[in-house]
Amino acid sequence: MKNFLILGGGFAGVEAAIKLRAKGYNVTLVSDRDYLFIYPISIWIPVSKISFDNSKIALADLQKKHGFNLIIEKVEKIDAINKKVRLEKSELTYDYLFVALGMDKRHIKGIENTLSICGAPKQANAIKDELEKLVTKGNGKISIGFGANPDDPTGSAVRGGPAFELLFNISTYLKKKELLDSFELNMFAPMPHPGIKMGEKAYKNIGNFLKHYKINRYTGKKIVGFTKNEVLFEDNTTLESDLIIYISGGEGHHLLKDSGLPINKAGFVLTEPTGQVEGFPEVYAIGDSAHLLGPEWAAKQGHMAEIMADVASHNVHQQIIGSNNTISYLDKVSIVCVMDSGDGAAWVTRTAKKERLIMLPIVGHWLKKIWGFYYKNSKLKRIPRIPGM
Ligand SMILES: Cc1cc2nc3c(=O)[nH]c(=O)nc-3n(C[C@H](O)[C@H](O)[C@H](O)COP(=O)(O)OP(=O)(O)OC[C@H]3O[C@@H](n4cnc5c(N)ncnc54)[C@H](O)[C@@H]3O)c2cc1C
Repeated sequence: MKNFLILGGGFAGVEAAIKLRAKGYNVTLVSDRDYLFIYPISIWIPVSKISFDNSKIALADLQKKHGFNLIIEKVEKIDAINKKVRLEKSELTYDYLFVALGMDKRHIKGIENTLSICGAPKQANAIKDELEKLVTKGNGKISIGFGANPDDPTGSAVRGGPAFELLFNISTYLKKKELLDSFELNMFAPMPHPGIKMGEKAYKNIGNFLKHYKINRYTGKKIVGFTKNEVLFEDNTTLESDLIIYISGGEGHHLLKDSGLPINKAGFVLTEPTGQVEGFPEVYAIGDSAHLLGPEWAAKQGHMAEIMADVASHNVHQQIIGSNNTISYLDKVSIVCVMDSGDGAAWVTRTAKKERLIMLPIVGHWLKKIWGFYYKNSKLKRIPRIPGM
């Protein structure tokens, strides 16, 4: 029986563990957190619409349902040449390795003065605490922004959606408390057209949303750093803020640099469209850790992480049984985003063939909530999984 080692217990790693177990393989999953964090619904933690505990699934519960081995420990080194992985207290070997460690964020001067909704999960609680302090004070300036990585050729690791969603949700939250007029809400990003990856229609819609939710826009200016109360731009202008939330451009997980695996300039693992790492037939890289192939508008997303996991699990099985019946994730590359605002949502999809935007006032918000329920309970086998979701 072949031994699979999966590094990472996020969207990609858990999906691969489930699919490989369904094929009967012996699977060990290693994660430094004992839970899978459902990032897409975590945007509601700061506005008290969901608790931290309800935004996660215990990996031990998934282990029980799907029968994989689970090690909660930090991976310290990957040695792909010698097929070894060093953890804090032990060393593991494998027949097949799946790298699903997510990504790191670029360091920028003064970043310690900011919080991120896309970093360590607990930061969502810290944002909630800071927001509550301002609500108690009765006024404040809140700036939320995101950056890119100049080494990431297509910008696939830019994560702007959560910044917009958090701003819209904070606006709705303050409006309910009749405090919106006492607050200044700002969005900032260095690119001239943030959100354009989702397509022209969605981009225009974001502009309308920003106006509707009374959010000022600071775009097209490089961000050079932060102080405790300011965003610093390259033209020497500043944006004064009581609370700065910043999602830095993504870069490859730091462990990949010395792993022996091929990586691109931004540090993401280079793979074939099958998920197999170039030059390493026994290693697959999936989710945010991998260099995402496909059109220039492709973006690293949770549903892509699951598609990559599914495709890689199928392909490694074909490899083991000596079949050429492999598949590619390229024709499945898409953007799917339910851009939530706390009182509704815009449903955005983009594929090679079409772009679609459907405005869903009120019901859109509930659709995203239902998705959160479905994601959790279908992973735990409490409700059946809908193919492709
Ligand atoms: C706030 C937010 C909202 C989002 N909303 C959406 C959305 O609406 N739709 C969508 O499709 N996508 C969304 N995304 C993107 C989506 O969450 C990511 O693309 C997805 O989480 C990537 O999955 P992954 O498994 O590759 O990485 P991750 O989910 O980041 O998982 C990485 C795993 O590796 C583990 N790990 C890291 N380092 C180590 C180590 N040294 N040792 C052991 N374990 C380690 C981590 O603990 C984690 O378990 C959102 C992201 C954020 C942050």
